[in-house]
Amino acid sequence: MNIPQISTGEILRAAIREGTPTGLKAKACIERGELVPDEVVIDIVKERLQAPDCAGGYILDGFPRTVPQAEALGSFARIDAVLNFVLSDNAIIERLSGRRVCPKCGLTTHVSLLNGSDLCPACGEKLIQRKDDAPETVENRLRVYVEQTEPLIAYYRERDLVKDILCDDHTLEENHAEVHKALGMKD
Ligand code: AMP
Repeated sequence: MNIPQISTGEILRAAIREGTPTGLKAKACIERGELVPDEVVIDIVKERLQAPDCAGGYILDGFPRTVPQAEALGSFARIDAVLNFVLSDNAIIERLSGRRVCPKCGLTTHVSLLNGSDLCPACGEKLIQRKDDAPETVENRLRVYVEQTEPLIAYYRERDLVKDILCDDHTLEENHAEVHKALGMKD
């Protein structure tokens, strides 16, 4: 669609790498698998949405994650649809614990696709595992999800915006097609 994908997690990780004040505030929360304070992420998104590349629309990835974030978002943006990727805890744990990312080009992949290699298939750099993809942290992230993020599904269902995408046992291509269908787009 030629619109930016805005990932608050990615913006926070960049802030940590650069050692900015926001990065310093976020680091400990992220490493414990907890959420960064609402006011920090709300300010980030509010500012980012003012950039010229957002004029024609955008995808928010990982935001909002709490009801107060959703309320704030509603005061400065109009949301067309909310994609709810539905999958079991087992599938989430399998995907996160096998996730590998490239520190150089940003590619995200999974050990099951790498044939035993630990190099980035796009640029050849050595892949790494995100610290918050460690098993104990993943468990905590799931708890935090149930307590703080899951209530958003009811919040947005009331507003008739939720599109459920059933992801268990689905391939990337199938999920892609379902997202297109949910948004009324042609493949
Ligand atoms: P993600 O890359 O979306 O999995 O986010 C990684 C981590 O960044 C999360 O576990 C949180 O600690 C933090 N984070 C990302 N987005 C948010 C958000 N909207 N609200 C609070 N914390 C966030």
